[in-house]
Amino acid sequence: MALQIGGLLAPGGRELPETWDLGPRLPKCAGVSTASPSLVLRFLGAGGAFSRRYGTTCSMLEFAAGPRWLIDCGRQAPDQLLEAGFSWHDIAGQIVTHVHGDHVYGLEDFAFMRFYEGREGVEPVMRGGPKPKLLAHSAVRDEMWETLAPSLRYLREGEDLRAGTLAHYFDVAEAEQSEAPRDNPWAHAERFEFEDLAIVCRESEHVPGKPSCSLEFELEPGRSDGRLAWWSGDCTVDAARLSALEPRTTVFFHDCTFVDYPGQVHGAFSLIEKLPRPVLDKLVIMHHEDDLETHRARVEALGVRIALPGQRWDLHRGVRLED
Ligand SMILES: [Zn+2]
Ligand SMILES: [Zn+2]
Repeated sequence: MALQIGGLLAPGGRELPETWDLGPRLPKCAGVSTASPSLVLRFLGAGGAFSRRYGTTCSMLEFAAGPRWLIDCGRQAPDQLLEAGFSWHDIAGQIVTHVHGDHVYGLEDFAFMRFYEGREGVEPVMRGGPKPKLLAHSAVRDEMWETLAPSLRYLREGEDLRAGTLAHYFDVAEAEQSEAPRDNPWAHAERFEFEDLAIVCRESEHVPGKPSCSLEFELEPGRSDGRLAWWSGDCTVDAARLSALEPRTTVFFHDCTFVDYPGQVHGAFSLIEKLPRPVLDKLVIMHHEDDLETHRARVEALGVRIALPGQRWDLHRGVRLED
């Protein structure tokens, strides 16, 4: 099977091929666990910016106590959620790493559905129902509004026909702590505690000059040296940071590309291959291009695991759960 994607340009100016050989469908990985976990990450979409086979990125955090959060919400997220058996009314909150269409273009659907429609005992936000929570670095949030405002700002307050803000649709989380700016004018990192969740959004190198964050999920909130689960968002390989975090980290989910090009903005597999063994042992690649299968042997030879849609991962133990 081949898919026409001609004419698109990837971030960084790379031209995509006219046709991609999609190969066989979604094989399963080995090495799964049957124990019941307290915090699970479920992949709804595990593909890259232009993936059709693996779907744009959207994952669900599932707490044993009940709440479900989404990590990013790409353009295919509304359909991915439905296919997984959920509705927007099942989602307590949304985390956003950065503003590219494959990470945020499902958000308008989320905001409008919850604002105007109720379901199964959940009232619409416009009638006082619960707002979904929104957690993102403040610099990312500013860019979110640039893309959402043309739709979401049309709420009337008195004579003002454009009074809508993010806060009309979402319960927006403010950072508890932040780190001083380093390479950019915004805070290097912001830490949030929001009910079930403690998370650090830390700037990472994606597109130069653009706010974009990796995520550090604190698995033992309140302990400064507690264990983490790490999520790249989209970023280049930062070997020093990954090595520094490794002793505390149960699992690293890293975006990955097998295409080397000038101005790389993703996790080049050629650099992932050079990471220290302890990092590789905890690494799971994601955000795949549709030719992933042509590289599978190289990934497996390195002992690195592969995220695929539908998989569920126990973040405390860094292992995949049985289907
Ligand atoms: Zn992306
Ligand atoms: Zn991106």
